[in-house]
Amino acid sequence: MHMARSFRKSAFVMRNMKKQRNTAQKRIIMGALECADHPTATELYEDVHAVNPHISKATVFRVLSQYAENGEIRRLHLPGTDERYDATMTPHAHMRCAICGRIEDVSFPGLENILGASELEGFEIYSAELDFVGRCRQCAEAGRTLNGGDKETENTVSDGASA
Ligand SMILES: [Zn+2]
Ligand SMILES: [Zn+2]
Repeated sequence: MHMARSFRKSAFVMRNMKKQRNTAQKRIIMGALECADHPTATELYEDVHAVNPHISKATVFRVLSQYAENGEIRRLHLPGTDERYDATMTPHAHMRCAICGRIEDVSFPGLENILGASELEGFEIYSAELDFVGRCRQCAEAGRTLNGGDKETENTVSDGASA
């Protein structure tokens, strides 16, 4: 009899092996997300790829989508940039610098009540996002402005004037 061999190839074992491999891959992907700073799926894939080149781009994208749909991570739709992912689930808002693209977490008193929208009776909130777009402290200190070749912002102070 070839019990051992057939067991090794059985659907149960194959399924279990696949499950273990998927779990390991998800752990790597989620670990990378926790270390990254609001990455896009492509950026996260690059991080994951550096650690484990066997994980495909499709897997990274699929795992991110699954986790976002299950509400285990946040998918951010910040204006002016690609979709980004966030492993921090405590209520917080985002501030995106329109000049350098930096995204920072921000929190302030009362934010939790706004995002929880507890006063909206009869409306069950699944997710809420609050985004600010502006100029970050680093860009402000460096005197960087939004007029990087954009004709519509010709009235803003030029680099030459502020230097
Ligand atoms: Zn900036
Ligand atoms: Zn965040």
